[in-house]
Amino acid sequence: MEYQFEKINDILLDWFELNARILPWRSNPIPYYVWVSEIMLQQTRVEAVKGYFERFIKEIPTIKALAECEDEKLLKLWEGLGYYNRVKNMKQAACQVMEQYQGELPKEYEKLLSLKGIGSYTAGAIASIAYGKRVPAVDGNVLRVLSRLSGSYEDIAKASVKKNMEGILRKTMPYDKPGDFNQALMELGAMICIPNGAPLCDQCPLSHLCVAYKKELTKELPVKASKKQRKIEEKTVLLLEYDGKYAICKRKEKGLLNGLWEFPNIEGKKSVLKIEDYIKKQGYKYEIVVPLKEAKHIFTHKEWHMLGYYVKLKQMVEQQEYIFASKEDLQSQYSIPTAFKAYKSVILEEENGV
Ligand code: SF4
Repeated sequence: MEYQFEKINDILLDWFELNARILPWRSNPIPYYVWVSEIMLQQTRVEAVKGYFERFIKEIPTIKALAECEDEKLLKLWEGLGYYNRVKNMKQAACQVMEQYQGELPKEYEKLLSLKGIGSYTAGAIASIAYGKRVPAVDGNVLRVLSRLSGSYEDIAKASVKKNMEGILRKTMPYDKPGDFNQALMELGAMICIPNGAPLCDQCPLSHLCVAYKKELTKELPVKASKKQRKIEEKTVLLLEYDGKYAICKRKEKGLLNGLWEFPNIEGKKSVLKIEDYIKKQGYKYEIVVPLKEAKHIFTHKEWHMLGYYVKLKQMVEQQEYIFASKEDLQSQYSIPTAFKAYKSVILEEENGV
């Protein structure tokens, strides 16, 4: 028998009214704030997003300001959130909005979908939360809740399963407060029907309607096909210092972390001797080479396993590739991806690596 999803509507709305967390973007859900928060929340926890959201809105308060913002400033504000294409796409979408919609995000779901970086989930969130439109917003959290509720064994990693669920919700979601309904599902997924471990079914307002709970399937559901193994890349990262300044260079305009700044690095984990050799070949003279701790960074499809060296240089050599930046500039001006956090923190003396 097909699951009757309309049964959850009123209970979920009542639960949300009492249990919704107070979040900076919820107190004033204008379209721009909903958009920024939803993009930040993709792949990032709510607690981590709060500070970023407030800083971003303070610096870039409107869509016009976003369209006109310098890339370097934008990336700096995003530093630490990762997945930098999200904010680059936002700027492109802001330019589209300025050109096509006089600076106002459109109300229609289909028009929102046509904007760069806005998929069905974000379009649904903006249309329902900011404009009160009756459209679903289905992300991984929501899919998990709905699979467990209905006892579905369909693979939630499949686009077709998500599309199907969106179709069902379009028919069954409430006419009243669709934005709250979407947020309630997201909130339940984030706080109660949690991933990676036992969901808190004894606190769930829907437990009496939940197939997975009744049949003790919460450990099995949802089904999600495991992703391919990540590729491992080894690197050696160099902190080249001269006169209190550190070498950084810009990553290529295409590919992973494109256009961001990084510390010089070479493929493979190299020994001290190899590094000394490498530095000499680059024309530098050095005082000392000190090994730093190893570090690891996990991306969606690959892992970087890194080794680092601090190198104190005796003199500067004209190198078009590098610029030398002070600690202050590394803090305030240049956006260095979180992948290099372990080595950046050595420079900022957060850790005694040197
Ligand atoms: S009863 Fe448990 S498994 Fe079912 S929706 Fe609630 S938290 Fe999730």
